[in-house]
Amino acid sequence: MNDLPASRTDDPAAGGLLIVDTAAVVANWRTLRDSAPTARACGAVMKADGYGLGAAELAPALAAAGCRDFFVAVPDEGIALRRALPGHSICVLSGPLGSLEPFITHTLTPVLNAPEQVAEWLAHSGGRDYVLQVDSGMNRLGLTAAELTELAPTLQPRLLMSHLCCADEPAHPMNQAQLAAFRVAREKLPGVPSSLAASSGIFLGPDYHFDMVRPGIGLYGGNPVPGQPNPVRAVATLRLRIVQVRRIDTPGAVGYGATHAVSPGMRLATVSAGYADGLLRSLGGRGVGMLGGIRVPIVGRVSMDLISFDVSAVPEDLARPGQWISVLGDGIDLDGQAGNAGTISYELLTGLSRRYARRYTGS
Ligand SMILES: *Cc1c(COP(=O)(O)O)cnc(C)c1O
Repeated sequence: MNDLPASRTDDPAAGGLLIVDTAAVVANWRTLRDSAPTARACGAVMKADGYGLGAAELAPALAAAGCRDFFVAVPDEGIALRRALPGHSICVLSGPLGSLEPFITHTLTPVLNAPEQVAEWLAHSGGRDYVLQVDSGMNRLGLTAAELTELAPTLQPRLLMSHLCCADEPAHPMNQAQLAAFRVAREKLPGVPSSLAASSGIFLGPDYHFDMVRPGIGLYGGNPVPGQPNPVRAVATLRLRIVQVRRIDTPGAVGYGATHAVSPGMRLATVSAGYADGLLRSLGGRGVGMLGGIRVPIVGRVSMDLISFDVSAVPEDLARPGQWISVLGDGIDLDGQAGNAGTISYELLTGLSRRYARRYTGS
């Protein structure tokens, strides 16, 4: 279970160790690219610091593998990523949020989402490149069909894009409706390359691939086809250090609110991470860990910096202070653990704190 030398895993200063498998991110990018063979390009969405796993650390590995198009959400993320990626395209999905200066100084490409953003860019960017987003039915960002019709004669974007709202539900009628709306939009800008699919959209089939696909979560190990076998590899392993093991000798309860009853003979292991580290309070009584190859349940409430596991089923010599309980990887599935928390892989990953020690492997 342990792919690192004990001396490196056993970082004495952090309560948790987040291990990010860079080689798996690259392998996942190749899998996603190869799943959309008719698209000329496969980008990489690295917003929210690479879905919490480290954009600056992972982007150079993807660039080395041949990825040329990177996406972030806001200009500040683009500025930060530019330091790691001197020569590649970095598109900012929210577009300018004020001054155009960061786009020009750091050679960032805006995704223009609204007529005001378009007008400002065309007036003040000195003819620089831009991506144009149209809204195909999500009602979130992008020009409406009417706005596109009106502005099309003045527009020459590098890429026309839109975003699917239900791609993780292949049978949802919104997919077909958005595809049809996007095709109509494309006809208004003939010859402009286009992009519709994120991770799940890739698996809706070739009609959705167009010229570029833009996966995010699939790069980081989240399953783009919920309910089916995950086509991508796990990326994140998260191990939490046991601070104390308590053998219960009188009936009682564990943790805040005394919500979970404990009885004599039980053994509880308390680890040094909690909701301040992105391990959501909703994992209380529902989340799981892995210790010595045995699944151990979270018992009681998740505290800010502490979580208790019932380790009664684990041999005593494997459940001792200083040892590690895995809550992602090592046999604990990301989507499954997110489901235990009542959320999705995206939220679990992007919430992982900077308090963990981090190791990048396989680069
Ligand atoms: C976040 C995002 C993506 C990536 O989505 P995943 O579901 O993580 O693959 C692609 N395009 C846009 C516009 C996004 O906001």
